[in-house]
Amino acid sequence: MIQNQERYIIICYSTSEMLKADGLLRSMEIKTELVPTPSEFGEICSTSIAISGEDRDFALKLLIEHPLGYKEIHRYQSRKMEGLIRSLKTNRITALFREIIGKIEQGKTPTKGEITYLLKTENQGEIEAIFNAADRMRKEIVGDVVEIRGAIEFSNYCRKSCNYCGIRKGCEETQRYRMSQEEILAEVHKLHAMGLKTVILQSGEDDYYTAEMLVKIIKRIKIETGMKITLSIGELSREQYQTLREAGANHFLLKIETTNREIFNFIHPDDDFDHRVQCQKWLRELGYVNGSGNMIGLPGQRPEDIAEDILYFKEMGIHMIGIGPFIPAKGTPFETCARGSVDMTLRAVAVTRLICKNVFLPATTALASIDPDGQSKALKAGANTIMLISTPMKYRSNYQIYSNKNMIDLASAFKAVEDAGRKLPKYLNIIPEEAV
Ligand code: SF4
Repeated sequence: MIQNQERYIIICYSTSEMLKADGLLRSMEIKTELVPTPSEFGEICSTSIAISGEDRDFALKLLIEHPLGYKEIHRYQSRKMEGLIRSLKTNRITALFREIIGKIEQGKTPTKGEITYLLKTENQGEIEAIFNAADRMRKEIVGDVVEIRGAIEFSNYCRKSCNYCGIRKGCEETQRYRMSQEEILAEVHKLHAMGLKTVILQSGEDDYYTAEMLVKIIKRIKIETGMKITLSIGELSREQYQTLREAGANHFLLKIETTNREIFNFIHPDDDFDHRVQCQKWLRELGYVNGSGNMIGLPGQRPEDIAEDILYFKEMGIHMIGIGPFIPAKGTPFETCARGSVDMTLRAVAVTRLICKNVFLPATTALASIDPDGQSKALKAGANTIMLISTPMKYRSNYQIYSNKNMIDLASAFKAVEDAGRKLPKYLNIIPEEAV
């Protein structure tokens, strides 16, 4: 990883121009990383290119010689968030809380113990202050517009048996389906017609879809719609990730679920923690905009573990962070476990916004599945993205990673945005009345 003290940040006018500039630098063997654009640079392009100080001059020369939408280059400095302390009602908070908020104000990262304190405090004045600070940081850094993305769950076959998952290999109740290339493209075109800019292709770990087949689908999406593509298809080899990246995939969502190794092993009988982290590093090296996330309320999980997850997202430069409550799924070994709490999930969203700053934080479907107002509450707690379920009707009820999943559609997304007092993106070709 490129060290912070010698890091420079290259900012472009748009994501597609940024990706072209990144490709140019990589082709000239400059080591790059895609990272959330530091918050002080506002809403230009949410992803920027990080390079080391020793490559700065050469990179700049290349970018000037090849006009690819390069805007500016800056030495990386931690963002300060002035006024956070001033806004606190000091008669209602402890000295420790004030100190932690002071660190965030100064652009420093609190320690694991301090983040745990934010997740655990029962002082109402402090809880209010956490949500207010997260909402303010969200407003200043990513603005009021809620990013809308469409997710197509194209296969519910999976070779793995994660203990919490309703589509795990051994789950006999699940009716399996696979979508053809034509079916996938038909759904992508519907999203494109709505004006959406990003499609998420999600599935279990299904070997039926070879890299070659996925490349064909990715290339067709690029040629026919130009949409950005997020893949969420699990662990692959480095070569496979590279092939898909070169075909045009932009983002990859690979959730760690928990950074507590013991819990990770307990919930993932087929997986190895170090290998999951390695996959995430490969994705970063290959120039994907890197996504991860966790579940709140897993059996045995403590606030300390969630604090460690948040530090992991920060250290790995994770750009999209899906935080949802654990919800037990029928027919799985965890069927009778207690589900995660809405309150702790919202607290984790707020604290993640304060620590990771300029990231995409979805108001997750899982949260909406256990609280009808879950998405608007998450939007008020620092979230800025909603993912629509865009799987065809005949298949979607069979993609139940957890039970009683809420099928987020445009109408419910619009309602959550309105309830939270936020704005819809200008790129949508559909108005709220048409979505009902
Ligand atoms: S969580 Fe993902 S990898 Fe695990 S069983 Fe479910 S679909 Fe498969």
